[in-house]
Amino acid sequence: MYDFAYQKPASAADAAKAAKASEAKFLAGGQTLIPTLKQRLAKPSAVVDLRAVPGLKGITVAGGAVTIGAMTTHAEVAHSADVAKAIPALAALAEGIGDPAVRNRGTIGGSIANNDPAADYPAAVLGLGATIKTDTREIAADAFLKGMFDTALNAGEMIVSVSFPVPEKAAYMKFPNPASRYAMIGVLVAKTKAGVRVAVTGAGNGVFRVKAMEDALTKNWSAAALDGVSVPASQCNGDIHGSAEYRAHLISVMAKRAVDAAG
Ligand SMILES: Cc1cc2nc3c(=O)[nH]c(=O)nc-3n(C[C@H](O)[C@H](O)[C@H](O)COP(=O)(O)OP(=O)(O)OC[C@H]3O[C@@H](n4cnc5c(N)ncnc54)[C@H](O)[C@@H]3O)c2cc1C
Repeated sequence: MYDFAYQKPASAADAAKAAKASEAKFLAGGQTLIPTLKQRLAKPSAVVDLRAVPGLKGITVAGGAVTIGAMTTHAEVAHSADVAKAIPALAALAEGIGDPAVRNRGTIGGSIANNDPAADYPAAVLGLGATIKTDTREIAADAFLKGMFDTALNAGEMIVSVSFPVPEKAAYMKFPNPASRYAMIGVLVAKTKAGVRVAVTGAGNGVFRVKAMEDALTKNWSAAALDGVSVPASQCNGDIHGSAEYRAHLISVMAKRAVDAAG
């Protein structure tokens, strides 16, 4: 079960070198990786623990953007006065992830590298038009999030930080699965300098934008503008927690609530 090399590098360069091993996996908060190993759904040859790598933690607000280090926990984002001031929607989103144990261990880098189709941060990354900085390049949100558990990251590529441009207005509304707290549906709406963005998580095989809602809100930023604008059920997944039709309906409800909350 645990037949892998454990490494705890003390620099980003050493982490990159260690990750070059085929089938190496980074370990951040372990909230997904450890259960995955326990269930034998992953069998890496090496686990590269990022906790001793300097420069991966912390929050800075500068140049009209909030930049969050990959190893920053959900709790640190949720309780940051800087985030609450610059992008309150982001602090509220982080506060709504899982439970206190998950929030105190789970990290933003681990969450977006994992790109669970019902996770919250992917909605923020896409909805706010964030940029992901890795140890080799910068990747725009629209190119980064590929689909179910899939991203633009190459094997061994490490997320260093995520930069969120400060929007004019934004809010995130989630209807949580009562058991896991993952999103049955989560919708992030944002009015930014570059335009309106609407990102939906929990509905399909990965987070996606809703152009029809973006167009309606560009003309008229109000919940009423979304009357009659919906995502077809054929674009949503159905499972034991809810049908595709139920999820499609929830998207419209959560989107309107988010616009109202953003003001
Ligand atoms: C009970 C429970 C409830 C949860 N509820 C929610 C919820 O409501 N909403 C939600 O969004 N999430 C939820 N989560 C997920 C959680 O928030 C974590 O964010 C997520 O599990 C991954 O973060 P982590 O730091 O633990 O990463 P890890 O588990 O350590 O790693 C996850 C993956 O990311 C890779 N990785 C980690 N860091 C980096 C990096 N810097 N660069 C490149 N790759 C990296 C790892 O190799 C691994 O493949 C829940 C988890 C649990 C266990």
